[in-house]
Amino acid sequence: MEMTDHALLPVPPTRPWVDVTSRLCKGCDFCVEACPPRVLGFSTDINERGYRYSFYLGDGCTGCGICFYNCPEPGAIVVWRQPADKKEKKVLS
Ligand code: SF4
Ligand code: SF4
Repeated sequence: MEMTDHALLPVPPTRPWVDVTSRLCKGCDFCVEACPPRVLGFSTDINERGYRYSFYLGDGCTGCGICFYNCPEPGAIVVWRQPADKKEKKVLS
């Protein structure tokens, strides 16, 4: 299973939230710069491909999807939202 930010958080994040799969990130920083509430950070570590990677800070995501649409790497970002029926739903991936 792919390790994501969400899996690394000590407590479940508030919803909506965003997962970044660090292995797929190439560190362009587009998502961090594009996020309106500035809730994405940038690692000091590097991933197995040699890139620093973005990650969700754990709170404040609005589910707008702007990070997703700015990311050039397919599959690197997944945006989750809570629909009206309360079932967890992956809406942008
Ligand atoms: S979905 Fe919007 S608010 Fe959430 S991390 Fe992405 S750009 Fe930021
Ligand atoms: S836009 Fe995509 S590739 Fe660029 S830093 Fe964000 S997750 Fe990584």
